[in-house]
Amino acid sequence: MSSTINTGSKSDQSDASGKLDLRGASGGGMFDYAPAPESVKAPIADTYGLFINGEFVDPSSGDRFETLNPSNEETLSMISSASVSDVDAAVQAARDALPEWSGLPGSVRGKYLYRIARRIQERARELAVLETLDGGKPIKESRDIDIPLAAAHFFYHAGWADKLEYAFPGKTPEPVGVCGQIIPWNFPFLMAAWKIAPALACGNTIVLKPAETTSLTALRLAEICQEVGLPKGVVNIVTGAGETGSALVDHPDVDKIAFTGSTGVGKMIAKATAPTNKRLTLELGGKSANIIFEDASIDQAVEGIVEGIYFNQGHVCCAGSRVFVQESVLDTVINKLGDRLASLRVGDPMDKNTDLGAINSKEQLGTINRYLETGTSEGATRHDVNPCEVPEKGYWCKPCFFTGVQPSHAIAREEIFGPVLAVMSFRTPDEALSRANNTPYGLAAGVWTDKGSKIFDMASKLDAGVVWLNTYNKFDPASPFGGFKESGFGREGGRHGLAAYLK
Ligand code: NAP
Ligand code: MG
Repeated sequence: MSSTINTGSKSDQSDASGKLDLRGASGGGMFDYAPAPESVKAPIADTYGLFINGEFVDPSSGDRFETLNPSNEETLSMISSASVSDVDAAVQAARDALPEWSGLPGSVRGKYLYRIARRIQERARELAVLETLDGGKPIKESRDIDIPLAAAHFFYHAGWADKLEYAFPGKTPEPVGVCGQIIPWNFPFLMAAWKIAPALACGNTIVLKPAETTSLTALRLAEICQEVGLPKGVVNIVTGAGETGSALVDHPDVDKIAFTGSTGVGKMIAKATAPTNKRLTLELGGKSANIIFEDASIDQAVEGIVEGIYFNQGHVCCAGSRVFVQESVLDTVINKLGDRLASLRVGDPMDKNTDLGAINSKEQLGTINRYLETGTSEGATRHDVNPCEVPEKGYWCKPCFFTGVQPSHAIAREEIFGPVLAVMSFRTPDEALSRANNTPYGLAAGVWTDKGSKIFDMASKLDAGVVWLNTYNKFDPASPFGGFKESGFGREGGRHGLAAYLK
């Protein structure tokens, strides 16, 4: 790692007079909030190496790529691009570390996991700031959700490390071996924790590849591995683009691939690993449905819809991107949704009042904008009711929703991965079910009603890995998460998630 550090001040959106530019965060509506910029700074090095065998090393090719702050397009740092031979070195380090790590008593592995969890808590504010600078999500989300949940995953799996034989009675649990783990940019640190914690608890060693636009917090996790004295080679982190990921997938000495990302890349990985002995789990895309019955608490349901689709700018695999509302309450829901949308504060992700931050990358913004055009050209009506003025620089998309959506419209079928909601209606529970299930995906669903019988009936018939009832987007390390159909296979979290890392 280079010795020069900046204090993160490059990413402050201050003008020459030193005043913060928070135009986007002023919301509008009934009253204005005073700016509340996060004051903690996260030091960022000018360049980062690859984390191989417990050390940061330069990439063999010397190639580096920049990582940006998507809210102002400024360069934060230069990240190393791992070549085939770097990936090979990382896999070799993980292979060499395997006998010692898998041979440790579970209670000792557990101690390392507890140490990592506590160190994450100690460095939580810095990690949250870094996640927000690098990825664009609001600081209140990285601070209150991403980082605490990541620590919780390490705590939870620390507890399992010496109890694996109780998790699977009558079996002798053995680690799978060297695990290649590839993660996306929407929850960079949390996804790293989801992947690393169970694998370590079960005695595996790891080569992790973060997404190109959001490597910084994974590299901080590498520092934490050093700080807690994790044996060398147990966790290796190789940064780079898709080619680095496919070098990991194709490496003959990797025993398992765990992938979270798009369905397209997931299918390619499934093909590449099919003729090999590699194990595979895939957590892919979604087009999840929120179903609102007329007997629901409508205010609560509208809050849940908003949480379901506008959380993290809609960069959520299980986002409730389709909403089905019972016809008798459709107008009420649309009016309340419009009012709520108008009060969301879009702008500087580092402001503690911000509800929606920046879109993660220029490419993703382009994808979202294409869907917005297609939605209108296919005949749906777009409701753009948010009054925020977004900054000129950076990648921004204000939250919106469409009505008049037909099941055949692209915005009702395809994953947009942005703050864009398709609102549709239904008359009977059966119609709601068949329309909600009419998708190649099957990741999550939400049901809103005050009738317990309806809740259980719907939950048992929805083709989705997770069904939230009168709530949405709630996560817990003890609860397995994963999809059906084209949303992938395998579970992460809970006892089911451990099984994926054991023979
Ligand atoms: P992506 O393009 O599939 O990328 C995911 C990861 O795979 C990144 O690290 C990416 O590297 C890498 N990659 C790209 N091409 C590869 C290849 N040929 N071989 C191996 N690795 C490759 O997905 P994304 O656009 O970053 O993420 C958004 C998607 O993830 C959405 O579809 C979302 O639904 C899904 N997601 C699912 C879950 C879940 O739990 N089911 C959770 C979060 C996200 P680069 O970044 O360098 O391209
Ligand atoms: Mg970035």
